[in-house]
Amino acid sequence: MKALQELVRENIWALKPYSCARDEFKGRDAHVFLDANESPYNQGFNRYPDPLQESLKVKLSRHKGVHPSQIFLGNGSDEAIDLVYRIFCEPHVDNVVAISPTYGMYEVCADINAVEYRKVSLDADFQLNAQNLLAATDDHTKVIWICTPNNPTGNDLDARAIQQVLENFGGIVVVDEAYSDFSSFPAFRTQLHKYPNLIVLNTMSKAWASASIRMGMAFASPEIIGLFNKVKYPYNINKLTQDHASALIDDAFKVQRWVAQIKEERAHMIPAFNELPVCLKVYPTGANFFLAKVTDADAIYHYLVDRGVIVRNRNRVEMCQGCLRITIGTPQENNELLSALRQYK
Ligand SMILES: *Cc1c(COP(=O)(O)O)cnc(C)c1O
Repeated sequence: MKALQELVRENIWALKPYSCARDEFKGRDAHVFLDANESPYNQGFNRYPDPLQESLKVKLSRHKGVHPSQIFLGNGSDEAIDLVYRIFCEPHVDNVVAISPTYGMYEVCADINAVEYRKVSLDADFQLNAQNLLAATDDHTKVIWICTPNNPTGNDLDARAIQQVLENFGGIVVVDEAYSDFSSFPAFRTQLHKYPNLIVLNTMSKAWASASIRMGMAFASPEIIGLFNKVKYPYNINKLTQDHASALIDDAFKVQRWVAQIKEERAHMIPAFNELPVCLKVYPTGANFFLAKVTDADAIYHYLVDRGVIVRNRNRVEMCQGCLRITIGTPQENNELLSALRQYK
């Protein structure tokens, strides 16, 4: 890996971050707070939340097996994705390399930040070739985006190819593990000590069943996390979200049961979907969804919409022509989809 300072935008490296009122007295006992222009009324909500979410990170660190100093919490993974650009990529100068097809936000955030986005196609099995990814980089490539299990394809990417990228690229490698709780592959999160250039993304939106609270996570070296903390909005995670996330971690067994149920239902759903006359192929998946090639994706998509059943039409996505992406729901919801498709003519 290049020296971190070489990878970070000059203005960000030099940035003196905003100092919150409450940062200044930290660690001292106090009971009268007249420092932050808050109201004394509406107790429970009147105080600014902890800007660094320290108690939540301590809880999360035990659950995820990383040190609290290796955790950034964001307003969804989307905030972490945007911050990666704002920290490392100089607009109109730097570029990033990403697998294709993959999650759309990496490209949208590149466009917003005026950063060139270079796509490298996966192979016919939606697998990653490390040499091809590395060949697309140059001196101005700051970041490589990898997503495993990948969205919208669903498959786990070859861990050895990801390792090759981590070992041979001098810049930052982001591995988005939004769906890793549904996968049997080991998580890259546990390899942080080996790769100083690794950023792993997780989210509460999928396995943790809490898309509405908007909480994403980035795991990386304390030095990289320090940069995230410097650039983020001071109070980016509100108190309601911190409280909900904290309660959910206390109830992690419940979350594990949900994940187990979804995996069990996925094991029923895939062979049943494969039997449908409309189904041409179901691609392998390690996520809570699967990609399926069907006889006529647009027509089937609209047929389902008319019956109040919404799936994701991926017909116009590179390498996904003719495909629908289907999330695993409850057994009832899945059966409603299957029976609607059995009646499709
Ligand atoms: C759903 C998803 C996310 C989650 O994004 P949030 O902003 O945390 O809701 C992140 N990455 C991928 C690849 C996803 O599919």
